Amino acid sequence: MKKLERPFLLKNVIKNYEWGQKGEKAFIPNFLGTKATKNVPYAELWMGAHPNGPSKIKLENQWIELGEAIAKYPKEILGNSKKELPFLLKILSAEKVLSIQVHPNKKQAEKLHENDPKNYPDVNQKNEIAIALTNFLAIVGFKYKKEFFRVFERYPAFREFIGKEKIEKAKKASNFCQIILAELIRKSKDEKFLSETIEKIALQIKKEKKIEEGKIFLQLKKEYKLDVGPLFFLLMNLIRLKPGETVFLPSGILHAYIRGTIVECMSNSDNTIRAGLTPKFKDVENLKKIVSYKDLELKILEKNSSFYCADFSIAKIKLKKDEKIRQENDSLRMLLITKGELFIEWGNRKRLFKKSQAILIPAILGKFTILANTECDFFEVK
Ligand SMILES: [Zn+2]
Repeated sequence: MKKLERPFLLKNVIKNYEWGQKGEKAFIPNFLGTKATKNVPYAELWMGAHPNGPSKIKLENQWIELGEAIAKYPKEILGNSKKELPFLLKILSAEKVLSIQVHPNKKQAEKLHENDPKNYPDVNQKNEIAIALTNFLAIVGFKYKKEFFRVFERYPAFREFIGKEKIEKAKKASNFCQIILAELIRKSKDEKFLSETIEKIALQIKKEKKIEEGKIFLQLKKEYKLDVGPLFFLLMNLIRLKPGETVFLPSGILHAYIRGTIVECMSNSDNTIRAGLTPKFKDVENLKKIVSYKDLELKILEKNSSFYCADFSIAKIKLKKDEKIRQENDSLRMLLITKGELFIEWGNRKRLFKKSQAILIPAILGKFTILANTECDFFEVK
């Protein structure tokens, strides 16, 4: 399999979802060194073999989909008994908030797919990790219990919406989030009551000093009319990542990205259950079952660390000029260069790669060396 014993440049798919960054400052076209088309949102760049946006590699002088190449040479490319690439790597660049969502675990995913294959195309679980490339704002998981209930004291209109009795009942329960979540979803079917409540909270926020939480609430209200999302937002943790910081989102943790750019690595799955802030399909019944209610420990990792989960590991590596690392492959790796240039050396050959390029290193390549041609930063996923 000599033809596979080399690194491959990946040709990747850009997703133009409406929440993506637009114009001259949009991250993705700047990163790729291309000119942004006017009024086109640049939301995501996908690096992987997912059928909704497969990367291509050049094999025997032809660009073919990565999934097709893997199907032809699974052992040579993946290096194990698996049949599919277990992860999907993305750059995600948000100007507007994304939907509030949660992803199922393996067991839940299998069940969802069986009952509703149209909305749940995969049988896979979905773990996600987000590593900030710019300042990044997100909401992740529910607030700790004390803080959670303080929200109803702070916003009387919200307290009225849920009902005092329900709140008192929830306070005594260990599954307090579930009780409130169910009530929030039930009450929000009354659109008039929902919009009045959101208006009242907005009015209160405008009168008070402008804290960041308030500003974001108003932004959500403006972007998504008649949506339960702004109320969810008040009950969740607002997190700010600086470039290089990381948050891990296991299955079951409710989350939404607000703005900024990240490298996102996830299990190769598109299974998403949406709760709000979206015109897309919302599956509130399954949401109630899948959201995990335990207190969330936020893992914000520093730079130069690696992260492992069931489906992949990702490392952020920084090399000085002329620094090298020797690698021994036993499985597929993917590199994404975010700064500088590097050589990949194998056998007696070498090839130069540079910023913005994503590289597939098939398992069969065996031993190889990464040599920094300039100072460089890259992500390595395997
Ligand atoms: Zn997600």
